[in-house]
Amino acid sequence: PPVPDVEALQHGDVAALLPRPGAESDKYRRGVVGVVAGSARYPGAAVLAVAGALRGGAGAVRYVGPAADAVIARFPETLVHSGPPHKAGRVQAWVVGPGLGDDAAARQSLDDVLASDVPVLVDADGLRLLSPGDLRSRNAATLLTPHAGEAAALLGVPREQVEQSRLAHVRTLAERYGATVLLKGSTTLICPGPGPGPVRVNPTGTGWLATAGSGDVLSGLTGSLLAAGLSTHDAASVGAYLHGLAARHATAPTGAPIAAHDVAAALPEVWRDVL
Ligand code: AMP
Ligand code: MG
Repeated sequence: PPVPDVEALQHGDVAALLPRPGAESDKYRRGVVGVVAGSARYPGAAVLAVAGALRGGAGAVRYVGPAADAVIARFPETLVHSGPPHKAGRVQAWVVGPGLGDDAAARQSLDDVLASDVPVLVDADGLRLLSPGDLRSRNAATLLTPHAGEAAALLGVPREQVEQSRLAHVRTLAERYGATVLLKGSTTLICPGPGPGPVRVNPTGTGWLATAGSGDVLSGLTGSLLAAGLSTHDAASVGAYLHGLAARHATAPTGAPIAAHDVAAALPEVWRDVL
């Protein structure tokens, strides 16, 4: 039978993918996620990415960057490091990009993380610094999480063109970069990688997610799921699904506006509903 081109993410499928600690688990075996984010100008992006990462199923979160004081003040359970990511200690997945800036230090951090042999999620400023050749020599999976504007820049086309045919463009991006791609928007699309295979569609979003910092929470959350052992395709799918549900939960029952940190705070409640 022909393979369907798209499939909707469903509750039961997401529930089956959630990481569940066993009796043998310790924090390292549950996975450590490294977050490379934030800058003097955007320290809050680091805090929001860590907020998502702390609720994504990894056993520990390492933060690497210049916003360590802000991160620790809000989340004392974070392991913080200055210096290059590869000196921060072992991680099972990296998230790189939210609020990172685009100077030489940001470029250095991105290169450092991409040289690792673990899955890497690239978001936001990390995407602005990225070219297709950067991923060619990687020996682990890469996940890109652009919104339409970032996807357009990655492909060198106008934003409207991406918005008019999101399905075609998420596939082209996966092909060109050799990566799994999560294309954000009112419906989020997740392309498994180059080649065939259905694109997953996440139905849980709400327009209230269109608020500053909500993408940073998503990248931390999804990176944490990667560190917990999910594939790039599954981590992106579960991340988008829970992120949307958390936003709905935070805004319920009346549909009031929410801030990005409310989405992160609602994640444990939503997780309980899905399990
Ligand atoms: P970012 O653009 O990186 O801040 O990420 C914004 C987040 O909000 C992504 O998870 C989007 O999928 C989500 N989002 C933005 N606009 C909408 C919308 N109109 N409906 C549902 N989700 C949205
Ligand atoms: Mg963003």
